[in-house]
Amino acid sequence: MQETNEQGTAVEQSKPLDDLMQKVAEHKGCGTSGGSGKASCGSSAGQGDLPTEIWEKVKNHPCYSEEAHHHYARMHVAVAPACNIQCNYCNRKYDCANESRPGVVSEKLTPEQAAKKVVAVASTIPQMTVLGIAGPGDPLANPEKTFRTFELISEMAPDIKLCLSTNGLALPEHVETIKKFNVDHVTITINMVDPEVGAKIYPWIFHEHKRYKGVEAAKLLSDHQLRGLEMLTEAGILCKVNSVMIPGINDEHLVEVNKAVKSRGAFLHNIMPLISAPEHGTVFGLNGQRGPTAQELKALQDKCEGEMNMMRHCRQCRADAVGLLGEDRSAEFTTDKIMEMDVQYDPEVRREYQETVEREREAKVVAKQAELEEIAGEQSDIRVLVAVATKGSGRINEHFGHAKEFQIYELSTAGSKFVGHRRVDLYCQGGYGDEDALPTVIRAISDCHAVFVAKIGGCPRDELKGAGIEPVDGYAHEFIEQSALAWFKDYLGRVQSGEIEHIDRGDAAIRQGAYVA
Ligand code: SF4
Repeated sequence: MQETNEQGTAVEQSKPLDDLMQKVAEHKGCGTSGGSGKASCGSSAGQGDLPTEIWEKVKNHPCYSEEAHHHYARMHVAVAPACNIQCNYCNRKYDCANESRPGVVSEKLTPEQAAKKVVAVASTIPQMTVLGIAGPGDPLANPEKTFRTFELISEMAPDIKLCLSTNGLALPEHVETIKKFNVDHVTITINMVDPEVGAKIYPWIFHEHKRYKGVEAAKLLSDHQLRGLEMLTEAGILCKVNSVMIPGINDEHLVEVNKAVKSRGAFLHNIMPLISAPEHGTVFGLNGQRGPTAQELKALQDKCEGEMNMMRHCRQCRADAVGLLGEDRSAEFTTDKIMEMDVQYDPEVRREYQETVEREREAKVVAKQAELEEIAGEQSDIRVLVAVATKGSGRINEHFGHAKEFQIYELSTAGSKFVGHRRVDLYCQGGYGDEDALPTVIRAISDCHAVFVAKIGGCPRDELKGAGIEPVDGYAHEFIEQSALAWFKDYLGRVQSGEIEHIDRGDAAIRQGAYVA
């Protein structure tokens, strides 16, 4: 097979690469190969039924493997300011330090600044494995800047995986270039396959020097998105589809979207809640369009999971985010600071660090397996959600008051399953608790039966108990899933002995507005 290199010269593509691309193309979406709808893409189960070659591509990618997101970090560089469509949920904002949502950045970068930043971050955070370009506009509406950035990074730090996120309008015309630059993960945001639905989400698009509106615009966008997805799949490039769940507009329709993208070979589907508040200045924020509740989102994800594996750990990151998903270290790497840094890029240090991470991952899997064997004989239909305060590594290692988010696990006699996360305002304000923040934290996890923390103060402990949520600090610094299953076994024992009564919990609120801390 002949490929063309950056200088336009024909080169022979290796046989192993041919084989890998064939396998990726054949994978045709999660859940198809085993027939059970339970393949491992993005799940916590490890390789599962994935071909080894594909697993190698996703196992260290924090967005494509749920299990990896506890251990590996990503960063975005904001080199793509322009956009070619308008979405009613989007407002590209600069200098908004307290907002974490797509389209928000503090600095725009040139490709050269971006490359220096990537090398600086990769040298400081050795678990950083992925570089994504996700805006603040559309990377493919800024193709020169996007591909120049990829070119520089692949020369300076060839061990870093390259990713881009696009609305898909300009995707078909760029698939060959995406292949040429070895971008092996692409995310397409697809919110509809019915133009009538699309007209309620997109007021206009701009394509080939012409502005389109209404149903005509949505049809053109949808055609390009689906064609681009098919072309990427055929090229052996892993595709994730992001969809924003907008109640009353596309919530029911997303089941159709899920089928359409699965049949075109999408690897993973990420259904995210609409984030909508008046202070964001978006059309939906200003007209009062609400986002889904936590249980509405989970119900839709559960429904689609039968068809295809779902991503549930997306943090809807800023276009300049740095660090583990759920943390943001971008303030440590501003352009001023980077330009002063003496960066020594040492792939060997990164490799050694990542080997340590791999040993920790293996220990975690063994610990979970041992606890699963313990619970194997239990008979019960009870299913509960629990919240976990963690800084990463799959351990319960964060204080209640320091948590900016809680990870949510579903527990049953079948085992534990990561089902999402909830962002919260910081409770601890350095020596005292913010009484205004506590009710928002409780609302965010009010569908959970327990919250696991490394430590918790007397006041929040009492408030949580009063709200019917059990604070659990007896597993501090232990592995999350092993501990949650041990607690669940004890919980079932307490229910069976009559010590406590199991009652279903209600719904919970997804955080919408800017943070207070
Ligand atoms: S926005 Fe979602 S998919 Fe993109 S880097 Fe963040 S977690 Fe990953």
